[in-house]
Amino acid sequence: MLKIKKQKTEAVKRKRKKLTPIQAVKGMRDILPPEQFIWDYVLENSKKLCHNFGFGRIETPILEYTELFHRGVGQITDIVEKEMFSFETQGKDAVSLRPEGTAGIARAYVENGMSKWSQPVKLYYEGPMFRYENPQAGRYRQFHQFGFEIFGDECPAIDAQIIYLAWKIFQKIGIKNTIIQLNSIGCGECRPAYKKLLTDYYEMKIHKLCPDCKRRLSDNPLRLLDCKEEKCAQVSSGVPQIIDHLCEACHDHFKNVLEFLDELEISYVLNSSLVRGLDYYTKTVFEIWEVGKEGSQSSLGGGGRYDDLVGILGGETVPAVGFSFGVERAVERLLQGGLHLDQKIEREVFLVQLGNMARKKILSLFNNLIDARISVGESLGRGSIKSQLRMANRFNSKLALIIGQKEALDGTIIIRDMESGMQEVITMESVIAEVKKRLKG
Ligand code: AMP
Repeated sequence: MLKIKKQKTEAVKRKRKKLTPIQAVKGMRDILPPEQFIWDYVLENSKKLCHNFGFGRIETPILEYTELFHRGVGQITDIVEKEMFSFETQGKDAVSLRPEGTAGIARAYVENGMSKWSQPVKLYYEGPMFRYENPQAGRYRQFHQFGFEIFGDECPAIDAQIIYLAWKIFQKIGIKNTIIQLNSIGCGECRPAYKKLLTDYYEMKIHKLCPDCKRRLSDNPLRLLDCKEEKCAQVSSGVPQIIDHLCEACHDHFKNVLEFLDELEISYVLNSSLVRGLDYYTKTVFEIWEVGKEGSQSSLGGGGRYDDLVGILGGETVPAVGFSFGVERAVERLLQGGLHLDQKIEREVFLVQLGNMARKKILSLFNNLIDARISVGESLGRGSIKSQLRMANRFNSKLALIIGQKEALDGTIIIRDMESGMQEVITMESVIAEVKKRLKG
């Protein structure tokens, strides 16, 4: 007895003391209903286009073995070196929250024997990604990507088709002023010799490089090309261009991609320092930027060919190409551009109640109206009839159904035309038919 009393006083004390509110984890955010309209708009349009282009949806787990990203994305990359949310499970497995989608999808391609499916296999996906980056505008620690991949076709026309679809999605959702930046980073045949050239070049100017670039020079000299440090960018302005050092196959592939893009009449610019931050790319790499924002560290999306990735993950060698864009960036861009979708939530009918008995009747009437596919709003709190009718107006309801103590006892209901204010008493049994009739009228 004494114990219960003590517990009670502690609970009361806790209640009195205002606790510090808990916030979302740094770099992660809530996406609230008004913004969800724009999210739905972006995702629905992107999905529709992917379906039209023959892509099927794939969903892979958010958590993967860390080794997948070490092997796939590459050890000497920003993502793997600094940005992964990695931890050990209770069973001592090293796992990571996915920082991007392609490695997981390539893993799924191998694991599910998709090389036996009719090729090419076209897949699209959407979902949260996690990178431990410095949060800032347009850059979060949990963000969402929409992406698509084509496995099993080495033809440069496929690269062009992926680039076209990426461009088309932005056109469709209303981000029209975009530019595609394009490069080829060669393959296992030609890249080693180019890397050697780069290493020799940078070694001569090593004293001018930032500490990250100095460290990366021996393992991944390509990454020095897109270092955003001012002094490194200056050094990089005189580097040998990879385009001049591609093998014949890569050169032809790239030339063909450009010709296909010309055929599709989409404009692009060549950017010889575009390498993308992930090791799995071969040949074509590209990014989509909003005109005027190039180089600002906030591309809308990026992608490229990755002919070696499936092999690196233990499958047969299968050529592949893909693209992904950041949903937050697209949504923010649309909001900045003043996109206003019809955000007003409307309800055809609003239920108004007074008293506990009426509230009980309203609960089941609400469900019956929903079952009859009528959109319905309600206020189950204690508001006055006047304040509930004001809510009905806010929801733009055509009809209000009002139940008080008397109606609840009688089995009747008042039906009110919200425009004219005319009211009539009808029986509870006839309410659905009457509402349908009036809504039609
Ligand atoms: P990436 O493959 O790293 O170039 O990422 C592809 C796209 O995902 C970028 O162009 C962005 O739109 C988006 N993205 C990447 N990292 C973030 C982040 N930390 N926060 C928000 N969006 C991101």
